[in-house]
Amino acid sequence: MPEKPDDASPALTTLPGIGPALAEKLRRLGLRTVRDLLFLLPNRYEDRTRIHPIVDLEHGRRVLIEGVVDRARVVMGRRRSLVCVLRDPTAETTLRFFYFTRQQQEGLGPGARLLCYGEARQGPRGLEIVHPEYRRLGESEPAPVQDRLTPVYPATEGVTQPRLRKLTGYALKTAMDDLPDLIPQRHLSRLRLPGLLEALRTVHRPPRGMPLETLLSGQHPARKRLALEEILAWHLGLRRLRETGQRRNAAALNPEGELRRKFLARLPFDLTEGQTQAIAQIDADLARGAPMMRLLQGDVGCGKTVVIAAAVLAAVQSGRQAAVMAPTELLAEQHMRTLSDWLEPLGVRLAWLAGGMLKSERRTFEAQLAGGDAQVGIGTHALFQETVKYRALGLVVVDEQHRFGVHQRLRLVEKGQAAVEIPHQLVTTATPIPRSLAMTFYAGLDISAIHDMPPGRRPVNTVLVSQARREEVVERVAAACRAGRQAYWVCPLIDESEHIDSSAAEPTYRELARALSGIRVGLLHGRASIRQRDQVMGEFASGKLSVLVATTVIEVGVDVPRASLMIVDNAERMGLAQLHQLRGRVGRDGQESHCVLMYRSPLGEMARERLNTMRNSNDGFEIARKDLELRGAGEILGVRQTGALQFRVADLARDGPLAEPAQRIADDMLQRNSAEVEQLIRRWVGEGDRYAQV
Ligand code: ADP
Ligand code: MG
Repeated sequence: MPEKPDDASPALTTLPGIGPALAEKLRRLGLRTVRDLLFLLPNRYEDRTRIHPIVDLEHGRRVLIEGVVDRARVVMGRRRSLVCVLRDPTAETTLRFFYFTRQQQEGLGPGARLLCYGEARQGPRGLEIVHPEYRRLGESEPAPVQDRLTPVYPATEGVTQPRLRKLTGYALKTAMDDLPDLIPQRHLSRLRLPGLLEALRTVHRPPRGMPLETLLSGQHPARKRLALEEILAWHLGLRRLRETGQRRNAAALNPEGELRRKFLARLPFDLTEGQTQAIAQIDADLARGAPMMRLLQGDVGCGKTVVIAAAVLAAVQSGRQAAVMAPTELLAEQHMRTLSDWLEPLGVRLAWLAGGMLKSERRTFEAQLAGGDAQVGIGTHALFQETVKYRALGLVVVDEQHRFGVHQRLRLVEKGQAAVEIPHQLVTTATPIPRSLAMTFYAGLDISAIHDMPPGRRPVNTVLVSQARREEVVERVAAACRAGRQAYWVCPLIDESEHIDSSAAEPTYRELARALSGIRVGLLHGRASIRQRDQVMGEFASGKLSVLVATTVIEVGVDVPRASLMIVDNAERMGLAQLHQLRGRVGRDGQESHCVLMYRSPLGEMARERLNTMRNSNDGFEIARKDLELRGAGEILGVRQTGALQFRVADLARDGPLAEPAQRIADDMLQRNSAEVEQLIRRWVGEGDRYAQV
């Protein structure tokens, strides 16, 4: 992404008090322009608009109080602290300081009048406030209270909250010229939503007495107004992408060639009806001279890879290259194995780009694609870095697209033959998403869905087991392995890095290796080389290893049909979509399969709901629906869970209902060819120059 600030919004350094050092800190938080600052919304608010009587203090509540210090002393206890008793006409309470200077101690002596803000907690002798923010007041000075609620922004390293407040304050003042309202007023009136500036002011500086619940839950019109604009902008962006794409040419590919025929003839199974139909739809697209933009949707294990291979072959036999992009290294490796098994015997040349490759290996890879020696490139998003050039790219496949941002999709089209042709696009996902989400994320995509499963699939029997019964689970794994079965043992990922994180899996690996004597246990180790990793996967796939301990990186795509037991450690920490993906690794070859979800007690209410949903359903769609419902109810599991849902303001779990009005507004704006369309896209999606190039 270009680092230069968008022309439409002034750089942050134009605000008073932002020098290069602070600008750099803010840039690292993704804040580059005044507008970025305005779209950084508070996580919560503090109420400093009124003074609370001390008698009303409650444990766990943050409030503003005012009073006079009655007595103060330094107590030794376990840790030395300064204790002041603050009194107002209703009661008294304790302020406690562990760090204080001589000067502060003097200022907090008896008779000092203080205004304090902090959280009351139950202390050894009644409620106390530890390290309140405080300010000394003159004898007859009126206590200053704020007339607006105080915003608290997402934690930002090296930038304090007061500073962020000051900056957003400036930004709001200058926003007038910077932020024209781009949604036609009549649409806003109909939906009873405020204008942009009003919405921003309300969200950053809510007036006294505003019900915070509605603001934080996203139900407030101000918040909805912002979410609507963001959803609308993405919707427009994706539709525009399609429109401009359709005006460009793509190579017309021949699906009926020799390679494809041989491939299908050699497959050890018959295609399912869903696969046949999807391939037919894709073929029809590819044969036209306009770029395909198609989403292939189908539950975990329905067999999307075969469909991908068929499309890849259409490109290859028409003299073009195909690029297959996977969301993780492991899945890229798996694709490399599967596709080379299927395609190399047909004489197709594949090249694989892995993360840990040496410079020289990487250069070889690049040369193969640029020179056309390789007909198929496989890898992670590294496939689309600047240095990778293709001789004749005809098809781009993005597997498990929900794991990528929408941004990547926008970037793909640039890799075609400059100016003349753009590649066909096939994106796949195993996450069946409700209509409202599809309207936003898949705007501009045609959809093929596979509804059936290859024969022989059996629903996986799922049980919930407390960690207290861990030993029983280990015994069960032992018994299963002695009976010739294979098991996955999955630990949550602690680190979000691209590589496999071994910190959770390593101790478990040692534990199991010790407990399961005579049984071969393997570990998918992040710091191991690609070859070692490849070897472990290979050994598990060939049955040499009985148990594979791994982190959740195996969640997508890993395919070892014989494995029939899935143990998920600390399942309460995982999201529903993730659990469903994991469970989809077993139950693939007709034998009875089990999934054991191990949890640590006590279970929170949401976690219990999630695990029960898993126990009660094997249906991906049902699980996705429940997932959204739970997340809409305020469950947040971080970006990993949400994958492509990379919005600044909107949360589709919550704001899904806005997709419908957004689509209507988009129809209207596009029909009238409104100039605001471009501006909206630029404002929220950025990448304005990319659109211009398409
Ligand atoms: P996903 O849709 O999750 O990507 P895969 O393509 O990995 O699923 O397929 C899962 C497994 O099903 C693989 O082992 C694959 O070889 C097998 N498979 C795919 N299609 C069929 C079919 N028509 N009949 C039998 N097995 C199939
Ligand atoms: Mg797959």
